[in-house]
Amino acid sequence: MTPTSVRLFQAELHYRPGLLVHTAVSGPVAFLTSLYLVVEDADGLRGVGEARSNIAYVNGLSPDEVAAAATRAVAGLPWPDGTPAVLAAADRDAPAPVRAMVEAALHDADARQAGCGVCELFGVAGGARRYHTNQSLFHGPADAMIEAARGYVARGFRRLKVRLGIADRTADRDFLMRLRDSVGPDVELAVDLNGAWAAGDVEAGLSAFAAAGLAYVEQPFAPDDWPAVAAFAHGTPVPVMLDETVSSPAAVDRVVAAGWRQMAHLKIVKLGGIDRVVACGQRLRAAGIGVMVGQMNEGGVATAAAVHAALALEPAHAELYGADGLVDDPASGLTYDTGTVRIDGAAGLGVAFDGARCRRTAEWTHD
Ligand SMILES: [Mg+2]
Repeated sequence: MTPTSVRLFQAELHYRPGLLVHTAVSGPVAFLTSLYLVVEDADGLRGVGEARSNIAYVNGLSPDEVAAAATRAVAGLPWPDGTPAVLAAADRDAPAPVRAMVEAALHDADARQAGCGVCELFGVAGGARRYHTNQSLFHGPADAMIEAARGYVARGFRRLKVRLGIADRTADRDFLMRLRDSVGPDVELAVDLNGAWAAGDVEAGLSAFAAAGLAYVEQPFAPDDWPAVAAFAHGTPVPVMLDETVSSPAAVDRVVAAGWRQMAHLKIVKLGGIDRVVACGQRLRAAGIGVMVGQMNEGGVATAAAVHAALALEPAHAELYGADGLVDDPASGLTYDTGTVRIDGAAGLGVAFDGARCRRTAEWTHD
């Protein structure tokens, strides 16, 4: 599409009381800060993309830096030249979250124009916009975490990922055994350590966790510990899923070159677009590496983009819970039940966006 109007919005998104994002790397997160880019052409064709901006603990970019880069993109990208030229310029000039927001907005509009879903731009045949997802148990009092687990199981979710690595390993192991007893043997349990352990503790720590019957442990060691990537490439007492290590398309290449043969967790906000997640997923699979498509805690627009990436790649593991439980999301059209997330709309990303619930922060128009 060829935009004649580009608008940038910002909003703070809050979860329902009792749901607090808190991991070993994020600390407690009171609310999400999201940017939204709305592109529109002369015929009223519209597309929207979202970038969560308060994730410096993942990408080192402050919310102000992401907002400034987004404002520069609104003013500086070659919008009159259309989607391919805009994305080529964003490849050169925009940090990953901004490039991702631009790509999602343009592909939302392009797919709407073609009368198809965004996933169909990546070769998926039409069909249900539904994918399975895990749910996350964030750090908190043990009783509250158990109660949250029971609540998700009661809603039909059968895959839970628990955030550990803040308490010591013995306490975490004891909690895991209690959680397993609480949810029973049929619920898939995984752990995310967000890089909390020294590489030297990984073997013994995972051996201790194994009794809980875990599907995988995410990022047990530091993101930049490449010797650990090589050391654990072929196996560990519990399978390891890299997340923070896979911070960019270049890092994906480095993981492949290091001979990694376990799993990797891909997110749009790290890699810079739905298109990049699909391409990186295909590259990892060709190298014999298992793929999870996931996201940060994000609003419905970014979550829908992740769902389309999952529909395109069909990974065994998917983490798409980000918009579940938000009370003031300016996006609508996602439904969570029976272990899945469903997108209501068939065209584009399939969600509606209400800019009136956000602050407009920048605008570009072309007559
Ligand atoms: Mg993770």
